[in-house]
Amino acid sequence: MSQFTYEEVEKHNKEGDLWIIVDSKVYDLSKFAGLHPGGPNVLYAANVAGKDATDTFFGLHRHEVLLRPQYARLQIGVIRGQEEIIKAPLPGSLSKVPYAEATWLSDGYYSPYYTDNHRMFQKAVRKFFEEVVRPEALKCEEGGTRISQEVVDRLSDLNIISMRLGPGKHLKGRYLMEGLVKPEEFNYFHELILHTEVARFGTRGFVDGMLNGAVIGLPPIWNYGSPELQSKVVPEVLSGKKYIALAISEAFAGSDVSGIQTTAIRDGGYWVVTGTKKWITNGTFADYFTTACKTEKGLTVILIERGEGVSTKPIKTAYSPTAGTAYVVFNKVRVPVSNTLGEVGKGLSVILSNFNHERWMVTASSVGAQRVIVEECLKWANQRIVFGKPLTSQAVIRSKLGKMITRIEACQNWLELVTHQMNNMSYNEMSNKLAGQIGLLKQFVSRCGRETAEDATQVFGGRALTVTGMGKFVENYHRTSGFDAILAGAEDVLGDLGLKQAMKKMPKDARL
Ligand SMILES: Cc1cc2nc3c(=O)[nH]c(=O)nc-3n(C[C@H](O)[C@H](O)[C@H](O)COP(=O)(O)OP(=O)(O)OC[C@H]3O[C@@H](n4cnc5c(N)ncnc54)[C@H](O)[C@@H]3O)c2cc1C
Repeated sequence: MSQFTYEEVEKHNKEGDLWIIVDSKVYDLSKFAGLHPGGPNVLYAANVAGKDATDTFFGLHRHEVLLRPQYARLQIGVIRGQEEIIKAPLPGSLSKVPYAEATWLSDGYYSPYYTDNHRMFQKAVRKFFEEVVRPEALKCEEGGTRISQEVVDRLSDLNIISMRLGPGKHLKGRYLMEGLVKPEEFNYFHELILHTEVARFGTRGFVDGMLNGAVIGLPPIWNYGSPELQSKVVPEVLSGKKYIALAISEAFAGSDVSGIQTTAIRDGGYWVVTGTKKWITNGTFADYFTTACKTEKGLTVILIERGEGVSTKPIKTAYSPTAGTAYVVFNKVRVPVSNTLGEVGKGLSVILSNFNHERWMVTASSVGAQRVIVEECLKWANQRIVFGKPLTSQAVIRSKLGKMITRIEACQNWLELVTHQMNNMSYNEMSNKLAGQIGLLKQFVSRCGRETAEDATQVFGGRALTVTGMGKFVENYHRTSGFDAILAGAEDVLGDLGLKQAMKKMPKDARL
């Protein structure tokens, strides 16, 4: 690679002969100037010709722009005796930006919850996600396509689909993450790592599109399905060969599950199911629907296979269609009675027992996404020059950053505390002791997320409203943070649930 001095570069400062320096690298933009998306004059107006344009460049572009082949090949040399300072992070590496990683991942800090095994696991997951999942997430988020079978197969090879459903008997005998963690040692902190890591790409639709239907739709099968149903459906879904969705909500009934109007009427050995379901995640491509139905004896959950009488169509939402959000119609679908999950009329307990884990998962991915927004804002406020100074020199901006950090740390710490309880409780204990707290936690985290989305939008200005470029993470988060406030139970409803559960446990003799 040729080496130049600043003086040599300075001579190339005119139209047709335009060099610049970015982070000690010398670029010849003579031909590119005419192709610059902002027009050639933008480079002259920025007064960068023949100069070190590092600050100007990073005030306008993300580092990844320099790495794109069409721009990388404009580099003709380096400045003699200097080395680049700004390097692309290696896949799997941790950020050194303060608060960009959870405390347990930050150099020189400690945690009572995580072991060396969690650290190894996190590193391997981040590397795999960055190398394999991120390109897929970006493609699917933008194109609105569902996750490809190729990537599903890679996830299934490492047993990531299974691990996202938490610890349990479904992991027995499985080789997790190429043997990095033994099934009996896998706990909710490993799972927490998976949910936070997948939320790091600024692709909220894809987070749900990466088979969240299985995370919420499959547990009722192994908890309440017949052994025959379990042995058929569970392996199909965990191997990524078939897809499943949880179909509870209807236009008639969301928060109020008891208002469900989809009916299941007995006809010999079959249920005949008629009704509609709304906003069903992964529903556009699901093969199975874990469906809440109204029967003569009350609410009942039934597994319905896609077939005659089942149709789905996409619902357009504020996030990417890659999530597969669907309107589902059941038109006199005949379903074997053996597909009933749990007792007839006891569907509400099947549905409710499933909610804790789902709400905890939504909280975990929200924390993962918020953490990235904190990092984005700290970097941007540090590098953006406004009124001749970095944005961080404005007290109002520092105040916003401080509040974002406070919020993410509060969310993370509470989430880890609840995760620790989950690790030490049986499934029934969790339902009894954690339903209220998880409701409050989810409400708190999703509210924090939306406040952070608002603050981040102010920190990034117009770029926060631009889908590509510098503010793309903030734009996606600002547009989609509301999903965390609705999915798996609306924020206010969950806050109320938390309070009601607490009041149930008030000692009879409690008086001031
Ligand atoms: C993108 C997306 C994906 C989804 N995926 C699934 C899925 O896979 N499977 C599935 O079954 N469902 C799914 N849902 C449905 C979701 O669970 C419901 O939207 C949610 O439970 C709220 O129900 P609702 O929209 O009918 O709101 P409603 O029940 O009509 O409530 C409207 C608002 O009123 C307020 N409210 C209601 N009741 C109370 C109360 N008691 N106290 C205080 N405030 C109250 C809340 O603020 C609530 O947001 C999804 C929804 C969306 C948008």
